[in-house]
Amino acid sequence: MMPDNEQRCRTCGKLLPEGRAAPTFPFCCRRCKMADLGRWFSGDYCISEPLPLPEIDLAAETEPGPK
Ligand SMILES: [Zn+2]
Repeated sequence: MMPDNEQRCRTCGKLLPEGRAAPTFPFCCRRCKMADLGRWFSGDYCISEPLPLPEIDLAAETEPGPK
């Protein structure tokens, strides 16, 4: 077998057992795919953390309703 078909995850460098047939190609998993996207948005994001979700402070936006 030729090793030129070897594909690695672009995020973590893990070998993709399915190569180009992987549904998440060129990443090993969805998380790495999203992490790569996150890196684009944040510059250089640490992938050891889950995806950063914008935390909206609901308490700050709570309007005093009529009572
Ligand atoms: Zn990966």
